[in-house]
Amino acid sequence: MKLLIIGLDGATLDIIEPLVKAGKLPTFASFMKEGAWGKLKSTVLPVSPPAWTSFMTGKNPGKHGVFGFFTNLPRQYKTRLVTASDVKAKPFWEFFKPDQRIGLVEVPMTYPPKPINGVMISGMIVPSHLKIFTYPSSLHTELIRELGDYPIDRWLQEYIQKADPIEGLKALYYYTSFRQKAALYLIEKKGPFDFFMVVFRGTDFVQHYAFKFLDKDYTSKHPEEEDKFGEVIYQFYERMDVYIAELIQKVGKDCTVIIMSDHGGGPLKKYFYINRWLIKEGYLKLKKEAKKRQIKVRKRPLERVFKRLHLEHFLPASLKRVKLPLPCVVEYPPEELVDWENTKAYANLVWTDGVIRINLKGREPYGCVNEKEYELFKDEIKEKLLSLVDPETGKPFIEAVYKREEIYHGPYVKDAPDLLIITKDIEYAFKIDLIEDKFLETPTNPSPATHRMDGIFFIKGPTVCEGRELNNLNITDIAPTALYLMGCEVPKDMDGRIIKEAIKEEYIKQHPIVFSKKEDQKEITAATTFSEEEIAEIEKELKSLGYMG
Ligand SMILES: [Zn+2]
Repeated sequence: MKLLIIGLDGATLDIIEPLVKAGKLPTFASFMKEGAWGKLKSTVLPVSPPAWTSFMTGKNPGKHGVFGFFTNLPRQYKTRLVTASDVKAKPFWEFFKPDQRIGLVEVPMTYPPKPINGVMISGMIVPSHLKIFTYPSSLHTELIRELGDYPIDRWLQEYIQKADPIEGLKALYYYTSFRQKAALYLIEKKGPFDFFMVVFRGTDFVQHYAFKFLDKDYTSKHPEEEDKFGEVIYQFYERMDVYIAELIQKVGKDCTVIIMSDHGGGPLKKYFYINRWLIKEGYLKLKKEAKKRQIKVRKRPLERVFKRLHLEHFLPASLKRVKLPLPCVVEYPPEELVDWENTKAYANLVWTDGVIRINLKGREPYGCVNEKEYELFKDEIKEKLLSLVDPETGKPFIEAVYKREEIYHGPYVKDAPDLLIITKDIEYAFKIDLIEDKFLETPTNPSPATHRMDGIFFIKGPTVCEGRELNNLNITDIAPTALYLMGCEVPKDMDGRIIKEAIKEEYIKQHPIVFSKKEDQKEITAATTFSEEEIAEIEKELKSLGYMG
């Protein structure tokens, strides 16, 4: 094998460095000593879909079209979940030579799976175990035969949601062990591969859940929780260190190995209710007497009522479809609460990333901001946000506000939100609720925790420099670097650079870099649609990770 990439979602040097110093991560330590390593800058925004897509395409989101977990539906105030079908650029492995064999395990944004010269198990978001998520599709049942199970990680979230941290932790190790077993099995039985990649999402899961136990603000009030759970993140990294060592042993010493993450992670300090702030500033208007929910009498099928009470087995089949008028709480979709004709700007109403859309005339259904005022209006919001101060600390808490053109370039910039916001050290997370006035809130339970801009990059192998710390690395740099290491041409339109300073000079002299002229033109396929049930399930997961609501 030429190249093995191990992805650890959300992994951060803030955890790794102190553990290495304490002698607890011997594999990471060997990368620092015998290889090259550094921080890896994520995308704006630093969330998995754009970050992983930029990783695999080597391009900024303006060229691949993925900006968050959701994408806006054209000419509507609604959004839908993104899938691999929204990715409008090719992953780097599609530029390999035709005879180079590939194995992929759970690389995010690869569902639905595609035929490749090799095998793959699709990664986040796989909607259901009943769907085809492996290539070939029979690989799923083969894994069940060989390993006894192959759980998709959406189920893991259900355990974590149940607020039983012990069950959540057990599930985390169970699921993670299957990623590892599947990777080892594929390398051994389906090889030889030229390129192999496996992604573990457990680092992100455990951090979202447990970063509060490393935060003095929380633990000073909950010392008994700190005693019990203060080690869980460290323990998980130690387990990953062992898994990485096993994978390296499996592929042999001649293989170059990269360990990377799509963004970092860290504790959450506060919520910023961005839509409430927009209301306070007069940019967002609610309809008169807008209420979140109302009690209404509606005809409901009996089956649904019984299901909610877990009594569905007692309902005779003949009555299942019978509808009765029953009182029920109706939650209004947030877009129905907004007085759109008088709203100039709004943050996304469903998902929680720091974005603002301008209600632009001609683009939005009830747009009221003219093309002429558009630029000045964005400047105005930007300035106001940057001057916001947290009364408790007396300090500004918005670190940066970007106009989309300032950070993205390419044909899909037009699909991005108009303004993108990064809070101070990303310690402030966004909430999108409309009703009520308070726009800053300290959560009593700051879980799920948030992300950080800096992910990780470690590389080791026969052509890699030893003991070198790397600077100015961007997540888009991995794709061109991987292609170069695979002996392939690098497409000119990738935004990232080959990380030459990590590679031995003699090797570069003997293997000159070749850029290919051919442009990456991927035909745009229709977006994969999930069923309503699947969407509800996926949204539950995203909620528990703090991405929604
Ligand atoms: Zn991620």
